[in-house]
Amino acid sequence: MANLEVHQFPCLSDNYGYLIHDPDAGVTAAIDTPEVAPISDALEEKGWQLTHIFNTHHHFDHSGGNEELKAKWSCTIVGSRDDAGRIPGIDVLVGDGDTYQFGSHEVQVFDVSGHTIGHIAFYFAEANKLFSGDALFALGCGRLFEGSADQMWTSLQKLAALPDDTGVYCAHEYTQANAAFALSVEPQNDDLQQRSKKIDALRADNKPTVPSSIGLEKATNPFLRPMSPDLQSNLNMTGADLVEVFAETRRRKDNF
Ligand code: ZN
Ligand code: FE
Repeated sequence: MANLEVHQFPCLSDNYGYLIHDPDAGVTAAIDTPEVAPISDALEEKGWQLTHIFNTHHHFDHSGGNEELKAKWSCTIVGSRDDAGRIPGIDVLVGDGDTYQFGSHEVQVFDVSGHTIGHIAFYFAEANKLFSGDALFALGCGRLFEGSADQMWTSLQKLAALPDDTGVYCAHEYTQANAAFALSVEPQNDDLQQRSKKIDALRADNKPTVPSSIGLEKATNPFLRPMSPDLQSNLNMTGADLVEVFAETRRRKDNF
């Protein structure tokens, strides 16, 4: 099994930066470029050379460091074909169902539009890791800035179909606030109650709640649970269309 090391570090106020490194091939990628200084420090600390940038979407807290890092490292920038005009310095255009070879790893690309159009996620099947950007968060999902609820629900279902033990590396530490909302719409969920306590303990120690896993998200994340009878009942939507339940959950979170 090919090795993939992940180095995770905070950027800006609540983003995570990630460096992923294939020691066999000697390649290193930044997943998004929220902030140059912590990425540069992390590269120096690990002694890794930046060869790639994988962008999940164009927002400034995800691609703002592209040009400075590319100028320094001449790295290859991989981003969405559907958002190529908004990804600074993009070199390789990918889309839903495409694969990209990163060292010894085949990276699968999913279009997960909704937060933005052209938002993509990167899945490393052999390493069991998903980089979900602002599409799927621990206990949350991205705000619908550009896409529809229907589109986001379709996107999230692709991620929910991955193996339960897939590590979910999302782009923000929003989990504690997300837990408060999740409990407000599905207070009966025992797994969620337990998870929320663990999250409070981690945050009290200033520790990350990320990564999580697909299995844990399916059990506790209200945005993956429109089929839950308790959630439907709490929204007064028993038996409603899953897209409608998802849309209502998202609306409530926007106003929480
Ligand atoms: Zn974003
Ligand atoms: Fe973001």
